[in-house]
Amino acid sequence: MVSAAPVASGRAPYTAPVSPSAAGPSVAPPSVPVSPLPLPELRAALLAWFDRTGRSLPWRAGAEGARDPYRVWVAEILLQQTQVARGQIYYDRFLTAFPTVQALADAPQEAVLKAWEGCGYYARARNLHRAAQQVAQDGFPGSYDGWLALPGVGPYTAAAVSSLALNEARAVNDGNVRRVLARLHAEPQPTPAWVQARADALLDPARPGAWNEAVMDLGATVCTPAAPRCDACPLRVWCAAFASGTPAAYPAPKVRAAAQEVTVVAVLIGTPHRAVLERRSGALLGGLMGLPAEPLAAGETVQDALTRLCARLPARPGAFLGRLTHAMTHRRVTLHLHAAQADLPLRMVADEALSRLDQKALALAAQPALL
Ligand code: SF4
Repeated sequence: MVSAAPVASGRAPYTAPVSPSAAGPSVAPPSVPVSPLPLPELRAALLAWFDRTGRSLPWRAGAEGARDPYRVWVAEILLQQTQVARGQIYYDRFLTAFPTVQALADAPQEAVLKAWEGCGYYARARNLHRAAQQVAQDGFPGSYDGWLALPGVGPYTAAAVSSLALNEARAVNDGNVRRVLARLHAEPQPTPAWVQARADALLDPARPGAWNEAVMDLGATVCTPAAPRCDACPLRVWCAAFASGTPAAYPAPKVRAAAQEVTVVAVLIGTPHRAVLERRSGALLGGLMGLPAEPLAAGETVQDALTRLCARLPARPGAFLGRLTHAMTHRRVTLHLHAAQADLPLRMVADEALSRLDQKALALAAQPALL
């Protein structure tokens, strides 16, 4: 844990703790030697900056430490892995459809998935819906532990909601927090446990909700990934990465596993606006509607998979309409789209919740040259 001992005087550039994480071999840039952070000064500086410049966001309705729990909860689930500007559009659409937790609890799952369209990670929407039904029955949880017990709520969301809506002293730990703390301490390889320990130590127990919002805002607007604006940063005088002269080098880039390559054959029966759709199953896209599709089995050709798909429906295969690629979290999908004919019921595409992959396939089919 970072010491709370105050610094006697001055604000010399800071040196940060050696990593205790021992997370694999050290890579450049190096950790920088130890010195404790002056918590009262540092907290006061960041909170004063936040009080002046904190973002006005729709889910920040309500007083500091007493935010609307439903809005905070929906935002934290919906904005994971999403830029705030884009996430705000999705958030507004979702809150318009379901302005209260009761409205969300009462809605059919298809309507929830439709309002979630484009946000990806549809398991989150299904869990949010189940949890809303629980909250509508039992009331909002009154503590971090109560939030953590809800479906789909992990430590990050529980910390965010309990600090922002209940003023409970719980520190959030997300990508923004990780980056800010890694730079503050010049830690190249911060593990989740390392980040959580430092976030817990820095959290201002008098204003936990504001503190969490402040760190998130700093990471989103000043201590940005590629080009941190250190000149505008309230933590600059204590920041070891700034003192190093290469703040953007911290933390070191993560080595990501290569995405799995998946090839899929899909058929368009009907038109891009009125087509045969099937309900998807599985964790990734379960509950969504989509064009009839089959992934290529090992050793299969596209033609083999198309024949298998058409035999299943049944349908008669038609012209090749095009090919597209789509990146998902751990997969890169190549989709081959064919026309097909069948005596099967058509659905209005606009009425259904579709994945981004299916939306791209329909957009491909709607290109003028293909009509
Ligand atoms: S001084 Fe620069 S690197 Fe350090 S926390 Fe502030 S913006 Fe980030």
